[in-house]
Amino acid sequence: MEMKADVLIFCEGRLLVRAGTLEPAGLEAVAGREVADGVELSPEGGRAVRLAGGAGAAPEGFAWARVRQLIAEGSLLAGRVCRALGLLNWRAECRFCARCGGQLGEHPTELARVCGGCGWVAYPSVEPAVIVRVEREGRILLARHVQRIPELYACLAGYIEVGESAEGAVRREVREEVGLELGEVEYVGSQAWPFPYLLMMAFRAQWKAGELRLQADEIADAQWFEPSDLPAIPPPGTTAYRLITDTF
Ligand SMILES: [Zn+2]
Repeated sequence: MEMKADVLIFCEGRLLVRAGTLEPAGLEAVAGREVADGVELSPEGGRAVRLAGGAGAAPEGFAWARVRQLIAEGSLLAGRVCRALGLLNWRAECRFCARCGGQLGEHPTELARVCGGCGWVAYPSVEPAVIVRVEREGRILLARHVQRIPELYACLAGYIEVGESAEGAVRREVREEVGLELGEVEYVGSQAWPFPYLLMMAFRAQWKAGELRLQADEIADAQWFEPSDLPAIPPPGTTAYRLITDTF
């Protein structure tokens, strides 16, 4: 069923939906609440707003849905929600001119912000990152991170650095984090991930040389796992899940 609501209401990264559904709530559900920001999603219509203050309890008959849940359940809304939340996240962070420090205002014709002082235009950001399934004789390499969700084993991942190719970033991350050299590195696919506005580019790679040597401040543990005997991994909908389960 096509979702008809023309507005998506977010607060603290969650989407307001009708209770028991993933159907977005209309603005009448939050009458009286202060709106901190809003953005038009496309020329054809559709708007997203971010409420000021904390999410708190949802109004009667509504619920705050986690965006990860929408993505995991393959909701028809997921694409629009990723775009909406990515744009709102960018707008919350991009308020001043990077060139002169002036206040940014709305661009009159484009989905962008423009500096009132010097005319610099800020376009919505996409941060490219890589994530890789490393294979060795049928087993796959998974790691627990010191910072990110330390109870789960996931694929190695990291940001692409300036001047670097995506494949180069894959090789560097794997070398830095676990001390391995890779053979063939093959692009698998990509996924938008609105935390805050990542583009996750997924790769499959073959181990070539080296034994596991963990970067202590980043990696708590890393092991080779049989695909039939996996540890706790990130939930469905995540890029890591699709890579680990070979369901891209
Ligand atoms: Zn400026």
